[in-house]
Amino acid sequence: MTESNRAVCKKAIQMYGKESQILMAMEEMSELQKELCKNYRGQENRTCIAEEIADVEIMLEQMKILFAVRKQSEKFLEFKLSRLQERLEAAK
Ligand SMILES: [Mg+2]
Repeated sequence: MTESNRAVCKKAIQMYGKESQILMAMEEMSELQKELCKNYRGQENRTCIAEEIADVEIMLEQMKILFAVRKQSEKFLEFKLSRLQERLEAAK
């Protein structure tokens, strides 16, 4: 995400408030979940999935700002991806 997009996310938190944006994050995650379920049931909804992924990414960015966990989250990401890579290699 670009710095200017991050700035937009920060402004959204300032404008709407922490509680509202946490609720919005939950709402967007559930919308993505719903589209994934529809796809699992056989619906062709790739565009909807793409849109909901974007919504969730915007809200995840806001959650990183709001909880001040960007660095911590990046460390978990690195740790979990390297653990996954090890598991994939072990399973070969
Ligand atoms: Mg949405």
